[in-house]
Amino acid sequence: MDDKLFRQAMGRFATGVTVITTEVGENIHGMTANAFMSISMDPKLVTISIDNKATMLEKINISGSYAVNILSEQQKDISMHFAGQTKEKKEIEFGRLMDVPVIKDSLASVVCDVDRTYEVGDHTLFIGKVREIEIKDGDPLLFYCGCYGTQEKVDYAR
Ligand code: FAD
Repeated sequence: MDDKLFRQAMGRFATGVTVITTEVGENIHGMTANAFMSISMDPKLVTISIDNKATMLEKINISGSYAVNILSEQQKDISMHFAGQTKEKKEIEFGRLMDVPVIKDSLASVVCDVDRTYEVGDHTLFIGKVREIEIKDGDPLLFYCGCYGTQEKVDYAR
């Protein structure tokens, strides 16, 4: 199976964009991720998938907790920053939820304790038990075929 074909097919699954945040000692670390999924309602569990080469892997292994921050369409620069896609240094002012660092003005911040981990191929799945949630209204930042996008309109009517 060709890597490029696999990447192109997976890229056709449109997603939102999150920044994962965690803290070790006094050092906060953030990383952009779209491999995020809700797993279970009772108990409330979510998962993220982290590249085994990412700095974030060791950080979460040590801290045992993380926040998933779902970005709004105004936060593309934040996504690019935490994906290492920009050159300039940026000072980020983090918020706090249950004493875990979070990205301010996100559509949702979901604070989790690591429940279990699974190393699967070249990534590790961190199953997180949800401890606290904060939400805000707004429109999401989207990611599709390797490009950022926004939706012109959300039809909230059911
Ligand atoms: P680094 O590359 O060292 O850090 C990432 C960036 O965040 C650096 O620019 C760093 O300066 C900055 N940063 C970190 N902490 C702070 C702080 N406290 N203050 C200011 N800046 C800080 N990878 C995955 O493993 N899983 C995914 O699901 C995933 N999804 C992605 C989705 C999208 C849309 C994109 C664009 C990338 C995705 N990636 C994913 C790739 C991932 O975001 C990058 O490879 C990232 O650089 C890996 O981060 P790292 O933990 O290795 O740390």
